Amino acid sequence: MNTTPDHTFIPLSPIVHPWISSLLQHGSLLHEMVDKEQSPVNIQSIKPFEENIGKYQEVFEKYGLDYRIYFARKANKCIGFAKAAASLRQGVDTASYNELAQCIEADIPAGQLILTAAIKNEDTLTLAVQHAVHIIIDNLDEYHLLEAIARTQEKEVSISLRIGGFDLHGEVMHSRFGFSKDEAFRLITENVSSHPYIRYEGLHFHLNGYSMEARAAALAQCVLLSDELASQGIETKQLDIGGGFLVNYLESEQEWLTFHRELKRAIRGERPALTYQNDALGIIKIDNVLYGEPTVYPYYNDTYRERFLDAILRSEVSPFTQPLHAVLRERNIQLRIEPGRSLLDQAGITVARVAFRKKDTAGALLVGLEMNRTQMKSSSADFLLDPIHLPTVRKEDDNEPVEGYLVGAYCLEQEFILKRKIVFDSYPEVGDLLVFVNTAGYMMHFFESQAHQFALASNVFCSETLDMRRDDE
Ligand SMILES: *Cc1c(COP(=O)(O)O)cnc(C)c1O
Repeated sequence: MNTTPDHTFIPLSPIVHPWISSLLQHGSLLHEMVDKEQSPVNIQSIKPFEENIGKYQEVFEKYGLDYRIYFARKANKCIGFAKAAASLRQGVDTASYNELAQCIEADIPAGQLILTAAIKNEDTLTLAVQHAVHIIIDNLDEYHLLEAIARTQEKEVSISLRIGGFDLHGEVMHSRFGFSKDEAFRLITENVSSHPYIRYEGLHFHLNGYSMEARAAALAQCVLLSDELASQGIETKQLDIGGGFLVNYLESEQEWLTFHRELKRAIRGERPALTYQNDALGIIKIDNVLYGEPTVYPYYNDTYRERFLDAILRSEVSPFTQPLHAVLRERNIQLRIEPGRSLLDQAGITVARVAFRKKDTAGALLVGLEMNRTQMKSSSADFLLDPIHLPTVRKEDDNEPVEGYLVGAYCLEQEFILKRKIVFDSYPEVGDLLVFVNTAGYMMHFFESQAHQFALASNVFCSETLDMRRDDE
């Protein structure tokens, strides 16, 4: 049954958590929030975040592992999530001076904080040393600066070393981050282990991409390194495998596969476009031959979130003859993870108001939203989830579905909130709302900017009784 009629819209139905469904039934509350906070408004909920932490905990507990979950707060700016992680006795991974300072200010105990920032200047390291925050060291210059600060402050500081360049199928996994295993071994045995102020505690990695196999291989190689260190009498207390746990955003694998198939047909000109001006979403077309895949996040996944962790832990990686969970348990090593996106799964929505409708020069319907594309943007070429249209007034007749595109407030031809063509159940009216679900992880914050002097969006938390309060209140 490969014959999709040419004009068929290909839906990508998002998974919608019950807190979002119940909020959507209170459209007037959403209108109130947009009126009060301006458009767009980011609405968050702690409940799914707590549930997600619980799901990871179940996996660790199933295998009897010592563990700690550090929420990578760079994925969302709200302090509310960092506080929630801390109150569940987990931790927060901070990636800048301000992220760290805000957590300290919020009274999150330093023992529950780690610093992984890619650039750690003197101020940042000094703040971490003063508060005895565990630091992940990436390179020798950073290490020497930390040494100097610890000596001046006469303070002990515990560190992990970030490792890069793991082997996978006989090839080095390229990375700009971390020490090679040999460099780390030398630094730890020749310097850190006898240092008056610096205490070696563990190894760390955070891999780009979403390969379960690469993470299992990297973890196994860290265990081997810890064994070599143990043979020199040096204990490794913890291994930290970073984040990058996949999220599943979509209800239907079939829709996801159909979308990919039809996108390619559209780019070859075999059916009407699925995207604005037939944007190829990163696929390259030469002489009507397509190369590569769309450069989009893998929005549909079977092995996601805690299942992804479970799959890593169940992996057997040679030379070990047991699954990794048993290898870790046997050595009494604490396993740490730093999920960002996956702890925020279902924890936030973005709500924006329709400002205008118009036609472009080709006759396509454009729906202008009071928001800009940096307010819902990640490195993915498009956010491939159907938005939800909340009409201001329900019209009885005249409910013809209509196709169109969502455009935003920055004065650029490329300023599309979504590149994908959207179907509205009824013709959008000025003042209607568009709701984008599952935007708390990266989408709402990571790239938000203030061009044209637009204010940043407000961040509001919604309680189970649908009370709203600002993140900073
Ligand atoms: C970004 C980052 C994370 C979080 O990654 P997710 O994909 O959001 O889970 C964790 N650790 C480090 C060091 C990071 O840079």
